[in-house]
Amino acid sequence: MNVKSADIYPVFNRLLERAEKEKLLRQAGKVLWFTGLSGSGKSTIATEVQYILHHKGFLVMVLDGDNVRTGINKNLGFSEADRTENIRRIAEVAKLFLDCGVVTLCSFVSPVNELRELARQIIGVEDFFEIYVNTSVETCEQRDVKGLYAKARTGELKDFTGISAPFEAPLNPALEIITENKDVNESVKEVMDFILPKIRRSV
Ligand code: ADP
Repeated sequence: MNVKSADIYPVFNRLLERAEKEKLLRQAGKVLWFTGLSGSGKSTIATEVQYILHHKGFLVMVLDGDNVRTGINKNLGFSEADRTENIRRIAEVAKLFLDCGVVTLCSFVSPVNELRELARQIIGVEDFFEIYVNTSVETCEQRDVKGLYAKARTGELKDFTGISAPFEAPLNPALEIITENKDVNESVKEVMDFILPKIRRSV
């Protein structure tokens, strides 16, 4: 029998829509944008939430300084223009994941409202959730996970958010997590309770 290629691979000539990918994944794509001081807990929470969601059957991507500054943004520095371009590219990348139906967790200090507003506009207000990881500069400095606060105090690191550069608290975050006197798992639960109803799909 002579099988024609058109029978095996008929040409559909149409782009797949995000909703079709979400149906395949049985989830709704959303972007959670974690903002807060260095050491506030953004990456810790995002990493834990990713792990839990994965084991509940969701496809999740975490974007943070580690995978962005070393890759797509490795040509950017810390001038004002480069910080804006850093966030613009991150938001565009997050949007691509979103368009694929992936739950995308972005963990970036993103210290000023203007930068987070830029990200919100690129990603789209319906799918963008700003999560303010609220930890005082005193606590972050005590934790000093990466030793950056010590360097900021000696002046080795210039324009360090919270020490020598401002952090603007979000005006109207979708969720605020105060991490002081709280265990990591309590912070994680707050995010899980918030996000699960938004990413579940019935079909
Ligand atoms: P960021 O990504 O905001 O720079 P990290 O997640 O790298 O911060 O570091 C936060 C540190 O604070 C980690 O060592 C984490 O274990 C600790 N921590 C203590 N309590 C909490 C909490 N309730 N939520 C999140 N992190 C916490």
